[in-house]
Parts: sequence; structure tokens; C-alpha cells
Amino acid sequence: MASNQKMPALFIGHGSPMNAVELNVFVEGWKRIAKALPRPKAILCVSAHWVTEGTGTTAMPKPKTIHDFYGFPEELYGINYPAKGSPTLAKRIKILVKSVPVDLDQEWGLDHGTWVPLKIMFPKADIPVVQLSLNANLSPDRHYQIGKELAPLRDEGVLIIGSGNCVHNLMRMEWDGEPFDWAVDFDRFVKDNLSMGNHEALVNYEKHPRSKLAHPSNEHYLPLLYVIGAAGNDKPQFFSEGIFAASLSMRSVAYGI
Ligand code: ZN
Repeated sequence: MASNQKMPALFIGHGSPMNAVELNVFVEGWKRIAKALPRPKAILCVSAHWVTEGTGTTAMPKPKTIHDFYGFPEELYGINYPAKGSPTLAKRIKILVKSVPVDLDQEWGLDHGTWVPLKIMFPKADIPVVQLSLNANLSPDRHYQIGKELAPLRDEGVLIIGSGNCVHNLMRMEWDGEPFDWAVDFDRFVKDNLSMGNHEALVNYEKHPRSKLAHPSNEHYLPLLYVIGAAGNDKPQFFSEGIFAASLSMRSVAYGI
């Protein structure tokens, strides 16, 4: 039975696609939080891996599983996450989001920013999933605004997830490296401001002196702004943290639990 409780909102640091098949401390955190959630009627995921001109939401009844990564073991390309879509939720999103037009997309599907954590958290794939794209032409403040506009979905049984990374610099990755100082520093900035509810500092993250090192491009950071926009005054709870491969923060945060 789907719950009528107000749904939490989650930001998940998704890291490497290998998290779909590996057991590690990050994945354990995802499993733990999934157990603590009321059962959602549907899931809306804002993934770092769907960046578009304009804003789109997947509106097909059966989204395909997209294997949008290269050079990983064969088994990852064989994974299918057969969750249904929800054309009804897509239309609801189009109505709720007033600050930008929202296209009802029939082409995308579920990219690995979405299905990797969902495969761990909801392995039965029996909850409908919709994605919302990141509009490449919007300022951070406007992404945050869309998150606010989506907040009512939490009262309608929809679990809002942002999937990215609080620090994400693939060029500087070192598989067995110690975390870089700048990665630790920026991750702490995110943690502290989440803890204080200082959304303004997080929206204006580019003022931080390490922001360009932490995010040479911003697509892995922006999903966090949707989540804090939807969080309102709820208090954050961190359910996974740590710097992976020297330059990726796996920090994950839940609101409303
Ligand atoms: Zn990613």
C-alpha cells in the first residue's frame, strides 16, 4: 500500500555506476534510508545525467533503461530497471512548475543517475519513476525555484530525489587517492550550510573559492538545489558521506524523515 504520509526528499551522491553491483559503505547508506521511507506512490528523480535545452519530464508509460557510461564491465550494460513511468505525474509536474515551460518527453528514459541508486533502494522496480531534466540555460537560483514549485508533490505521495554529487571532478579522480583538500573543504561547505539551513549560500555556491575545482561543470551539483528547494524548513539527515576516488563526494542527505 502506498502511504499518505508526507514524503521525504533525498539527495543521493551516486558516484560510479559500479555502485549498482558493488557492496560498499555508500550503498549500505542507501539501503538503510530506503528502509526508513514510507512507500512512495511514485518517484521523481532529477538526475545529473539528463541536461537539456529547456526543461523536460519523462512522460512515457515504459521508460527504457539507459546505459550512459563507457568503459565499465559488461554486466553493468546488461542491467534493466523495468519501473513504469507515470504520464499522470509528468502532467502534474508540468502544471506545478510555473517558472519555466516543461516539455512532456517521450524519448529519454531512466539514466544511470536514476537507476543505479533505485536498483539498490527499490530492487523490485515496482514504483513508477519519472525524471526531470536539468535545463542548461538556467541560473542556480532558477533550479532552486523549480525545486520549490515541486514541493507540493511531497504531500501527494511522490518521493523527490536529486541524484548528483556534492563534489564532482572526474579529471582529478585517483582511484586509491587520498581526498584532495579542496574536495574536503567544499564538501564541508555543503554540509555546514545544509545543517544551518543556509540555502542562499548553497544557491550562490560559485562564490566559494573552491567551487570551480569541486564542480568544473555544474550538472552534478544542481540536483541538490531541487532537493533543498523542495525541503522547505525540514531538517537534513546525512545518510552517506565520504570522498570517493579523491575528488567525488558521496554525501547524501534526507529531509522529512
Ligand atoms: Zn554521475
